[in-house]
Amino acid sequence: MSEPSTPSIERVPRPGPRPLPPRVSVFTRPFWDALAGGRLISTRCRQCGRVSFPPKPLCRSCWSEDIEWVDLPSTGVLYSFTRVHVVPRAFLADALYDIGIVDLPNGVRLMCRLLDAEPDTDIGSSVRMVSAIYEDGPLFAARVRPGPAASSPSLAKDVP
Ligand SMILES: [Zn+2]
Repeated sequence: MSEPSTPSIERVPRPGPRPLPPRVSVFTRPFWDALAGGRLISTRCRQCGRVSFPPKPLCRSCWSEDIEWVDLPSTGVLYSFTRVHVVPRAFLADALYDIGIVDLPNGVRLMCRLLDAEPDTDIGSSVRMVSAIYEDGPLFAARVRPGPAASSPSLAKDVP
């Protein structure tokens, strides 16, 4: 394992059910079960080493079906984000909200809900991957990391 980061991610309670619950299949169940327990995992090709996200039953690089589940890095860098002002009906209760594109250090680029962002949040900011725990299950999300000046004990109120 060459991943420098710890595999465990913070579990952040969220109100209500997921607006659009994912369809869980036999193949994706390990992903959702791990996420509920505070781990973000995906598939890696045993032949060429490429990590896929979302998880895939075969490698999109070399087409091998010899894949394994691995932990993804728990931190990444914000590639871009947008604040959604006009929301689909299913997300009315969440408006306004932010959607981010996050680069993980293993080459995975993913899109997810971005928590704790401000309109002036910098592109390139460090983010932490989190498991957003709704009443009916988890969704993965990213949380803008507090900067060095903000990482004092007074931030404890931020922790659920
Ligand atoms: Zn491969």
